[in-house]
Amino acid sequence: MTDAHRLPTDTDNGMLLIISGPSGVGKTTITRAVERSIPDAVFSVSCTTRPRTSADAEGVDYHFTTVDDFKAREAAGEFIETAVYAGNHYGTPRAPVDAQLARGRLMILEIDVQGAKNVKRQYPEAFALFILPPSEATLLQRLRDRKREPEEVIQRRFRIAQEEIAEARRCGAYDAFLVNDDLERAIAEAVGMVNARRAARRAARR
Ligand code: 5GP
Repeated sequence: MTDAHRLPTDTDNGMLLIISGPSGVGKTTITRAVERSIPDAVFSVSCTTRPRTSADAEGVDYHFTTVDDFKAREAAGEFIETAVYAGNHYGTPRAPVDAQLARGRLMILEIDVQGAKNVKRQYPEAFALFILPPSEATLLQRLRDRKREPEEVIQRRFRIAQEEIAEARRCGAYDAFLVNDDLERAIAEAVGMVNARRAARRAARR
C-alpha cells in the first residue's frame, strides 16, 4: 500500500489467524471472544449454501446464498478457498482478506481442516489454531445440548468431527492445539498465543 493510502490505524503487522475445530467444541464462542479481545481483529464472513439456522445472522455469521450463485462466484475466482462440508458449500471471500491484511489487521478465518490446509499453502505465514474437546464423549453431549438439530444430523456431525480431529493431527497445517475444557481459560490462551505470535513477528522485523 502506498503512503498516500495509509490510514492512521494501519500497521505493518497483519496476520491471518485460522481457527478450526469440530462442531460443538465452542469454536465460534472462542473465535468471537478473540475478535472482541484484540482491537484490530476482523472476522472473515464466509459464503455458504447451508440453510440458515435461528442462531445465524446474515452478513454477520455468513453470507447465505444459493448453490448456483456460489458456483458462479467460485468460477469468477472470488474465493481464496472453498470446501464442501456435510454436503454444503463454504467459501472464504478473497477481497476482504487481502484488504485487511494490507491494512495490517488481524484477519480471522473460522474454517474447516480442508480450508486450513488450502489457506496455509497460499499464506504460509498464517497462524492456525485447532480447538479440541476434552473428550469425544463431551463433544457428543455438547452437540446434543445445543438442541439445534435432529439426532441423525448430530450423529453425522459427530462422525465428521472424529475424522476432522484425526486429520487435523495428521496434516501438519496447525501451529497449535487448544483443549477447550474451560471456556474462559481457552479464550485467554488463544488471545495470548495470537498476541505472542504477532509480537514475535514485529520483533523479528526490527
Ligand atoms: P457450520 O455449518 O457449523 O457453521 O460450519 C461447518 C464447518 O464449516 C465448520 O467447521 C466451519 O468452521 C467451516 N467453515 C465455515 N466457513 C468456511 C469457509 O469459508 N471455508 C471452509 N473451508 N470452511 C468453512
